[in-house]
Amino acid sequence: MTNTPEARSDAPLTAPGEILHVGAADYPGLDEWRSLPLSQQPDWRGHEDFDSAYAELSAHPPLVFAGEVDKLKRRLAKVANGEAFLLQGGDCAETFDGVTADKISAKVKTILQMAVVLTYGASLPVVKMGRMAGQYAKPRSSDVETRDGVTLPTFRGEIVNGFDFTEESRVPDPKRMVKAYHKSAATLNLVRAFTEGGFADLRAVQQWNKGFMQNPAHARYERLAGEIDRAVRFMEACGADFEGLKRTEFYAAHEALLLDYERALTRIDSRTGKPYVTSGHFVWIGERTRELDGAHMDYLSRVQNPVGVKLGPTTTPETVLEIIEKLDPEREPGRLTFIVRMGAANVREKLPPLVRAVSDAGAKVVWVTDPMHGNTITADNGYKTRRFDDILDEVRGFFEVHRSLGTYPGGLHVEMTGDDVAECLGGSDVIDESAFDQRYESLVDPRLNHKQSLELAFLVAESLTTVK
Ligand code: PEP
Ligand code: MN
Repeated sequence: MTNTPEARSDAPLTAPGEILHVGAADYPGLDEWRSLPLSQQPDWRGHEDFDSAYAELSAHPPLVFAGEVDKLKRRLAKVANGEAFLLQGGDCAETFDGVTADKISAKVKTILQMAVVLTYGASLPVVKMGRMAGQYAKPRSSDVETRDGVTLPTFRGEIVNGFDFTEESRVPDPKRMVKAYHKSAATLNLVRAFTEGGFADLRAVQQWNKGFMQNPAHARYERLAGEIDRAVRFMEACGADFEGLKRTEFYAAHEALLLDYERALTRIDSRTGKPYVTSGHFVWIGERTRELDGAHMDYLSRVQNPVGVKLGPTTTPETVLEIIEKLDPEREPGRLTFIVRMGAANVREKLPPLVRAVSDAGAKVVWVTDPMHGNTITADNGYKTRRFDDILDEVRGFFEVHRSLGTYPGGLHVEMTGDDVAECLGGSDVIDESAFDQRYESLVDPRLNHKQSLELAFLVAESLTTVK
């Protein structure tokens, strides 16, 4: 269950004194990336504020602690072993203005709601993780953007520059890294308060899900919702310790794209003497920066965090094996997660050779489906969007592949929000293109809205229950 005692965070993470982190200024190898090919970075090293911003970040306290990171790795080892399921969700790009109590709580609430449904469907604990508290840097296909004959640097996420199409806003500003740190700290503080302070109460989460069921568009999920409700009432009748179930673990994840930020927030854990990225618990390398000999791969190979790597449709089995060699030479369970984003049309054909290669090599990784990034289209009215049905189809394809190979489909990675936006097409409470002008808010990729996210969780849970 979501809140099984073993998934709870009631045990002390570390003994007093063990969570001290020291700076990582001279740690061997941590600056190797600086001499390697480094893509997708702003050109700001010569900026007058770069050194002071970097120094300030380096002196700030870590956002997460090594003990928490190790604990997450143990949870992910369970996922790799087929004993838990991973749910990763959140914005494509967080925004500074999006750091409000309403927006953060809606997002956390939606993830908790999805997790309860998936927990029931899988009959397994769900590891909950937000693309939150650090998801501010974006890779882009072009360094520049031209509008009406004016060419400016492309928008790289609010940790780098502004979204407005003006010269002033698009100039990369290193002080934004410090702002992103503070916004991440504020986000994490609220997330911790919610998830440790009673907000995650299973009964409350179940009540929110009843709100979803009141919409006639969702009538087809009545049976499953009723079963979950009965299960919760059964637990209550049996005298389950709901006090203990009021808290849950919730982890923060983001793409480790901006290596100046990640390097400045790397600390040496005093227990083990090893480096940890302390900007978030889990970090991943994106599809555009996973060159084997590149800076990103090198940097994450040197830190202790659990790491993810996105795998797009051009990935070969050889590459996958080389990534394992590079990032997980010790074959440490929970260390490496492959986040597969092939597209609905590709996943059934392109994923099996990769899964087979990994199994044949005896490696144990977490396999996660990202059904968003291979299914992006442009709507007739110009908006970047995704079809709910394509997203669902890719998830189904991912499950089918693992089922046929006897391997474990370990998780779901989605771009979503707790708000009532209109960015992805479809869902039972249908979103069509006409709603985009009023309710499209994302600065980069389209997200599932609150209802679409929950609906996806119900559909995935249904297919998990029917295979049993
Ligand atoms: C993302 O996760 O927002 C992203 C850019 O993904 P990918 O690297 O898979 O394209
Ligand atoms: Mn995205």
